[in-house]
Amino acid sequence: MASDMDRRSFLKIGAVGATGLAQGIPAASLAETKISGDKDPGVRQYVELGKTGLRISDISFGSSQIKAGEESLVRHALAKGVNYFDTAEDYARGISEPVLGRALKGERDKVVIGTKTKAYASTRASDLMRSLETSLTRLQTDYIDIYFNHAINSLDRLQNPEWFEFIEKSKQQGKIRFSGMSGHAGNLAKCVDYAVDNDLFDVLLLAQNFGQDPVFYERFMRSFDWVANQPMLPRAMEKAKAKNIGIIGMKVLRGARLNDMRPFEQGGATYAQAAFKWTLSQPYVDAAVISMTSTEKIDEFLGASGQREVTETDFKLLEQYARMTDLTYCRHACNDCEGSCPYGVDIADVLRTRMYAVDYGNLSFAKTEYEQITTNANPCLSCDGKPCQDACSHGISISSYCGPTHVMLS
Ligand code: SF4
Ligand code: SF4
Repeated sequence: MASDMDRRSFLKIGAVGATGLAQGIPAASLAETKISGDKDPGVRQYVELGKTGLRISDISFGSSQIKAGEESLVRHALAKGVNYFDTAEDYARGISEPVLGRALKGERDKVVIGTKTKAYASTRASDLMRSLETSLTRLQTDYIDIYFNHAINSLDRLQNPEWFEFIEKSKQQGKIRFSGMSGHAGNLAKCVDYAVDNDLFDVLLLAQNFGQDPVFYERFMRSFDWVANQPMLPRAMEKAKAKNIGIIGMKVLRGARLNDMRPFEQGGATYAQAAFKWTLSQPYVDAAVISMTSTEKIDEFLGASGQREVTETDFKLLEQYARMTDLTYCRHACNDCEGSCPYGVDIADVLRTRMYAVDYGNLSFAKTEYEQITTNANPCLSCDGKPCQDACSHGISISSYCGPTHVMLS
């Protein structure tokens, strides 16, 4: 671990300037000028994103929950040294890209921008090009650093030749620098395996938190009946790392019930920081993105920047969180209950939107996401719940949550 950290760590912010020149990023980055000491550390570490050579803040800005008029929030993160901004064409009902575009105007040479579109098995290259052009306009830029195929959950979406034709053309035209795949749903390990084996992407953006890591559970196997999720994912990511594919973790907070954890936090260490440390301590993870929804949260999250060692105190916080959420948290990248519902309810998606409403406390975001679910939980209102009764491999009572979620979000 230590040698790996040495290789990937850039503890001195000056390194950003020196290496940034090679990437067209000015040596005198905003990050360099703002970070002055422990009292207000901001970003402490920049990492190389695999073979792309991009150097990004180890904790970066996710904008899926951003609201209109929150340009100052983006600029707060920028002033704290965050230099990677992650968005998607459909985040916040299409508001996210324009907000980032306005907030980052005049700062383009200091930041790395990633955005996403969903290419399905039959999406045409011409449609993808139209999506890209729209994103460029909204972001007020003429190039995207990393363009992701968004929320991959099946192999057929990775086998559409038009995506690759589009990517090649866009790279040639200078509209895209690198391509990526994002994923947080079922079949993730299988999709990562396929993508890596076939050298399909430069960057992977993947759900990655302590609750998905079998190593975390090994410490508690004797006393708890928890089940490690996606045991194949670390191996698939390791394979990606061996090919020097950049890996960014997301969904780090595993539901983000931060307020519920406050009573257990002592000495300034927080659950969120512990969760970041866990994700960043994984040897195959370069960096992490997180939805940054307030200046206070940005400051709290960045408190974990540059820290890749999980302490016993951190571990206790993670354990507490796992205990608290074990029977309510629908695991990212799990789809074990698929096929259990005779009405085809998208159980994992329904429970994910419940998490946005109940755990994140973001009802409008949850409603927006719920609207996009193909088969929502309406059938649960008139179902006795027997078909899905024992379908969750993690013991979640699916029927207890799906019906009420429909009532809350529809
Ligand atoms: S409660 Fe019924 S309708 Fe709802 S997910 Fe379970 S089996 Fe499907
Ligand atoms: S409800 Fe249970 S089995 Fe279904 S996706 Fe969520 S954690 Fe996995």
